[in-house]
Amino acid sequence: MSITEDKVVRRKIRVWGIVQGVGFRPTVYRLAIERQLSGFILNNGQGVYIEIEGGLSAADSFITALKTDAPPLSRIDRVSVDSMPLQNDGEFVITSSDTVDLDSISISPDKGVCSHCMEETFTAGNRHYQYPFTNCTHCGPRYSLVRQLPYDRPWTSMADFAMCPACAEAYGNPLDRRYHAQPVSCNYCGPEIRFTDSSGNLLANRDKALMHAVAALKDGKIVAVKGIGGFHLMCDATNEEVVARLRAGKRRLRKPLAVMVNSLEMAASLAVIDPLEQEILESPERPITLLQKRLELALAESIAPGVPWLGVMLAYSPLHYLLMESLKFPLVATSANVSGMPIATRFSQVIEQLGQHIDYVLDHNRNILHACDDSVVQVAGGRRQVLRLGRGYAPLVMPLEQAVDKPLLALGVQQKNSIALARGKQMVVGPYQGDLDSLEMEASFSRHLNDIEQLFEIEPATVISDKHPHYITTRMAQDLSKERSLSHLQVQHHHAHILAVMAEHRLTGEVLGFAFDGTGYGDPSPDGKDGNTGVIWGGEVLLVDIRQAKRCHYLKPFRLIGGERAIKEPARILLGLLLEYYSLDEIKALDLPAFKGKPASWLNNLYKVWQSPGLSPLTTSMGRMIDGWASLLGLVDTVDFEGECGLRLEAAAIDAVISSHPEARFNLSSDGVIQWHRLLDWAIDQRTRKTTGHCAVILLTAIARMIGDIAHCYPNHSVVVSGGVFQNRILMNNLAMLFQSKKRSLLTSEQLPPNDGGISAGQLWHGLMSGACQD
Ligand SMILES: [Zn+2]
Ligand SMILES: [Zn+2]
Repeated sequence: MSITEDKVVRRKIRVWGIVQGVGFRPTVYRLAIERQLSGFILNNGQGVYIEIEGGLSAADSFITALKTDAPPLSRIDRVSVDSMPLQNDGEFVITSSDTVDLDSISISPDKGVCSHCMEETFTAGNRHYQYPFTNCTHCGPRYSLVRQLPYDRPWTSMADFAMCPACAEAYGNPLDRRYHAQPVSCNYCGPEIRFTDSSGNLLANRDKALMHAVAALKDGKIVAVKGIGGFHLMCDATNEEVVARLRAGKRRLRKPLAVMVNSLEMAASLAVIDPLEQEILESPERPITLLQKRLELALAESIAPGVPWLGVMLAYSPLHYLLMESLKFPLVATSANVSGMPIATRFSQVIEQLGQHIDYVLDHNRNILHACDDSVVQVAGGRRQVLRLGRGYAPLVMPLEQAVDKPLLALGVQQKNSIALARGKQMVVGPYQGDLDSLEMEASFSRHLNDIEQLFEIEPATVISDKHPHYITTRMAQDLSKERSLSHLQVQHHHAHILAVMAEHRLTGEVLGFAFDGTGYGDPSPDGKDGNTGVIWGGEVLLVDIRQAKRCHYLKPFRLIGGERAIKEPARILLGLLLEYYSLDEIKALDLPAFKGKPASWLNNLYKVWQSPGLSPLTTSMGRMIDGWASLLGLVDTVDFEGECGLRLEAAAIDAVISSHPEARFNLSSDGVIQWHRLLDWAIDQRTRKTTGHCAVILLTAIARMIGDIAHCYPNHSVVVSGGVFQNRILMNNLAMLFQSKKRSLLTSEQLPPNDGGISAGQLWHGLMSGACQD
């Protein structure tokens, strides 16, 4: 290259996105050194600021490489490049950060161990050999150990460990992949594991602790293992006896348990894995991935009884790999808490909650500052669905076009709670918190709210909640708004469901939204037809924009006999459906399996309860309709976990061959009500003639067809579906096919949960776009 071609230039470059705490500066340093560029890089409130000086072609190639060679955990949202006068600085340096303005800094979620670190962990003689906490800038924990920003070692739970000379060298060397990796540590200087019995008596330390844990698992014992975001209960997933014991301890009858494996081969021996599922399974996020079970499943029967899916995750930390190395079987890996209680992050919590139900504890001395459950992901209708946003994905950061002047905080809802916030040029969705139904969960939510406000240094000007008067989050929002004189916005549940999908796809115009879920507090109808207060929605078709939702269609209401109790006893829901159209005598004559074995007084009593609107509120819920069908088909008697009826219906439907039944469909009446009389009639008439699977699949097909029919009437609207009902794979597969054949796009959430876990993001989108964030 001639000198004339390669004239010397200087460029200033700004990079926005996830560029801090992910090894961005060493990468930039290497790229600059390789091209003999001089200048500097620093972190600042804008993200990353770089100046380079050198040959034009080297500078251009540097700018290209910034994007193509960015470190794996980084995410570049935007780059700006400007020319500037030459400075002749002679070398390239990493300059210490400006005072940190937190507007565009974010915290990376925890990530699974990378291949380089794995190699070191299994190489004898390496200082990371058999070290359970090996990590680098490309992998390992982040969110779970940050106390405050900026993300720097003194502000993490690694502050308790002084680096040995070798680790300090790596930490300080811009060409090392551990340069400024805050959790950097090794066998000589980092956290240690310990093995105790369930009373807390120390049995072994370090590598001996590992050997003891392996032996205990082989011996059919239950071991609580401290991971990255919390403790797991672990045991041999092929041993029926120990799995049953673990279920009793957790007080979970049938809810599917996830298993951990140490290789793709082991996963493939348990389940059918398609390429997209494999990609998810092996990604650095390492979520629990729901896969279709193999029929000849070599696991204990009670791992996931009666459902076609198996939750599988690959080991994600060196500790797990070391543990599994000599085990030739998959492990149950379920969060260490009793059903309805917060996930345990400290030894004392494990002992308190589960002491009498576990045999041993494999603990370590690095504090978990923020609990984070495992994420759960599935592929439905050909696309990814995050069912639980936790370790690996959360906090989920989404860039905003415009900075907000006034921070917003959205508190989400009661079930599958998550918190979302907007500050600077970002919206952030926090990790899954669970159902806030107990005092312990309420307290845990309160602590999490404090943590989030501190961690992100946010003083919200507006707080957003659901409209449900009895949700803890609604009450908390009211209290906050009073105490701190904040404005308080309330967004209707199903409106927020649709808004969450709009947030993910950055939509602000009017869309046609199908919000089908279990239950949510509805708006009173203007004509008062469905009662004015406490209307339980869940089968709504809404014309939604940022500000408002107009209900254009809804499922014909039916009564939930005895209110909430019906959710546990789907036979009550079935009876509520039937009583809309049949007399009690007609129902008795049907001789349905759901009512068999019940005393004669049972139907009569429930009939009386049904007649009292105070005890049996009306609902339009599609989720509850599915529950009623599962009962009609004799699939579920008592519900053990939320969504069980839907899963059982899926299990029944999965292999059913379906012939078309034009009469088995929902009908739309002129006032917008979605009528289900004919569909129910068909099922009652056909249930003895057709297989259970056939009847199950008919309902799911009818829902898809109804959505298609309604969408047909709104040809110019984007179609959005959201709510727990759309976690049903058969429904999603049907919808995907239907919309493809009509050449119409169907929008759902892929990064955010379609269930209530995504609602905080929808609430936030309303606040952001309706102007609550601007001065
Ligand atoms: Zn690594
Ligand atoms: Zn060290």
